[in-house]
Amino acid sequence: MKLGLNLLFVALLLVGCKKSSIVNADYNEAFIASSMGGDLTAKGMTVKKAKNIIFLIGDGMGLSQVTAAAIKNNNQLHIKQFKVIGIHNPQPEAGLITDSAAGATAFATGVKTFNGAIGVAADSTSRETILEECEKLGMATGMVATSTIVHATPASFIAHRPSRKQYEDIAADFMNTEIDYFVGGGKKYFDRRSKDERNLIEELKKKEYVVSDYFQQDFEKLEIDAKKNFAYFTADDDPIPFSKGRDYLLSASTTAMDFLKVHEDPKDEKGFFLMIEGSQIDWGGHANDADYVISELLEFDEVVGKALQFAREDGETLVLVTADHETGGLAINSGSTPDSLVTSFSSGYHTADLIPVYAYGPGAELFSGFYENTAIYNKMRMAMGLNVKK
Ligand SMILES: [Zn+2]
Repeated sequence: MKLGLNLLFVALLLVGCKKSSIVNADYNEAFIASSMGGDLTAKGMTVKKAKNIIFLIGDGMGLSQVTAAAIKNNNQLHIKQFKVIGIHNPQPEAGLITDSAAGATAFATGVKTFNGAIGVAADSTSRETILEECEKLGMATGMVATSTIVHATPASFIAHRPSRKQYEDIAADFMNTEIDYFVGGGKKYFDRRSKDERNLIEELKKKEYVVSDYFQQDFEKLEIDAKKNFAYFTADDDPIPFSKGRDYLLSASTTAMDFLKVHEDPKDEKGFFLMIEGSQIDWGGHANDADYVISELLEFDEVVGKALQFAREDGETLVLVTADHETGGLAINSGSTPDSLVTSFSSGYHTADLIPVYAYGPGAELFSGFYENTAIYNKMRMAMGLNVKK
């Protein structure tokens, strides 16, 4: 009898092993297919599902930018904690060099499009973004940026316009999605519009958003009600650089994580999607100003540290860090010392450099390897257990 039970136990173990090896094979198949940008449909795949995604985009943050910031910070960066690292190709639909609109649209919708395009495909048709889909699925959604909230990167997750310059139209598109939390600049595109008489801040309030701004109250002093949707404007137009006193990215991002975790979902069942952009790393690159790049990147890296801490405690959160492209063609040259970098820039615009992707948490393995920027969209879907789209 005892032997029989033992045999049964061994048999069960064998069945268990066989099953798990099949699962692994399918997982690898999907994994390889995804890294080639091919068909991602995998049968029988059981990867631990990511309930939440924190997607951190350092605009213009190539490897040289990370290198420079690390050197200037005694080689200490939270980004260096990641064990799973991949590479994406940021090329847009035509040409080699992307802008932030096509780059973020690739992440948000999975399609290569033309520079300037906000949430639309190369034929200018609208594509539902991952943020919009998460919102429809009942998840909480949020965005935090150090640019205006209607700037190319955040815009590409919520708006659908053929030109990134359509700031007022992009602001109007915020009314079409019940995004739960957003913080960034650009108040004037909401409440003092030139193209119509709409006051989108009043419209947000009618939709039961709590809306505030830096004129009324410091972000740090706000008491935020996690039951209500929340919007906060950090500037009328572009927020100032970190070196000139802007300091909300860390607090607004940390608050976002805690807010979205319990927002309208006290049992914490449905999860959230949060996009955080360190927008001005790119602006430092455009200005060919290495100190500007480094100070913005070090601030962004503090947020990466908070996201990793949140994910470690939560256990169900996938943290992704990447850039849409490199900006400036930054090089760290001979003669540099840890105290004094000799830098040069080859461009005042973006370059075609391949871009690292850093991943932590459930589904992180999907992000190892070499793939197109558009593959990040389907990898996020796979991590969340959603069907893969072509
Ligand atoms: Zn740029």
